[in-house]
Amino acid sequence: MKVFLIYGGKSAEHDISILTAHSIVKEIYYNYYDVIPVYITRNGEWIQGETLLEPVKYSDFLRLTPGDTKQMALEKDQQSTGIIISPAEVKSDDAVIFPVLHGPNGEDGTVQGLFEVLDMPYVGCGVLASAAGMDKIVSKQLFQQVGLPQVPYVPVTRFDWQNQQEEFLQRCEGSLIYPMFVKPANMGSSVGISKANDKDELLAAIEVAFEYDSRVVVEQGIEAREVEIAILGNSDVHASVPGEIVKKVDFYDYEEKYINNSVDLNIPAELPDELVEKLQEYAATAFRALDGSGLSRCDFFVTSNNEIYINEVNTMPGFTQFSMYPLLWEHAGLKYSDLVEELIQLALKRYSGKT
Ligand code: ADP
Ligand code: MG
Ligand code: MG
Repeated sequence: MKVFLIYGGKSAEHDISILTAHSIVKEIYYNYYDVIPVYITRNGEWIQGETLLEPVKYSDFLRLTPGDTKQMALEKDQQSTGIIISPAEVKSDDAVIFPVLHGPNGEDGTVQGLFEVLDMPYVGCGVLASAAGMDKIVSKQLFQQVGLPQVPYVPVTRFDWQNQQEEFLQRCEGSLIYPMFVKPANMGSSVGISKANDKDELLAAIEVAFEYDSRVVVEQGIEAREVEIAILGNSDVHASVPGEIVKKVDFYDYEEKYINNSVDLNIPAELPDELVEKLQEYAATAFRALDGSGLSRCDFFVTSNNEIYINEVNTMPGFTQFSMYPLLWEHAGLKYSDLVEELIQLALKRYSGKT
């Protein structure tokens, strides 16, 4: 069977996607699969060619290498990367698509819609779960409906912001206290997110967020640990033990996450058993509320007096060998190669309507 491994993409998480592709290429079971790499450049061109089986070397990879935090100057060999194809050219019988794309156009249901139209099995969440999980306002509303605890928030559209700015600011200050977190609805990797400590900062933060999306959410900021649960399955949902992001900084933004590597992962997170069970139950509930399939990483805040708040569900979480999601499964005894295999099997089962 062929596996189209689709990576790169136009989003801010281009580099992390290349690292994931690199990990999968190294670990996939070659006795079962013929891997066909498809690289989406930063400009959005789809490229195919054998040399792409070395994703880090031949992609437009500029910044990161596992463990290395410095800017890397790489000679680019665009000519040898392959030929430009049309996205529809991945259509093939006896093949499965493994998209390892994050953020807008990759994790938000758009590319999943393409795979549906091509009528091909693909790894991970479908159109609805991807779109709803990516949208911080829609997912909050779904989580609210199934009774999951969340920090208070106020959503705002660009129209409201342009026409009723003062009322909106009053609404924020009436229902939330500083610091607040301001986020574009559709983004990831902390892009466009800022922390606001007063009204001036709130105004500026909202302006920044609107550069990325026409809908923005203002949230109550809290002092809390950040704990994550990995979900694996279709209708039969499995939840991992929690892992903790041990922050060395106050706000875990893009720079800190991917460039300074200023986080440690603690697996399993040190938490009382009842709390772990609750987190696992909440994670499964959130996954089902979104109609998830395949995989997701469900992120929570846990306060010092053990209150839990769901933060978000990432339907295509970081998936390099050093990422939280695969490490959580490794802790449960499922090694990276077997996890990749399981995800492909789940994609095939979902496609054939078995689960
Ligand atoms: P993304 O989808 O970009 O990862 P998040 O909602 O997870 O967006 O926010 C990114 C980071 O910002 C979080 O991991 C956390 O460190 C911080 N953060 C976000 N919301 C809050 C909040 N309400 N209170 C405190 N910290 C927050
Ligand atoms: Mg996210
Ligand atoms: Mg996050």
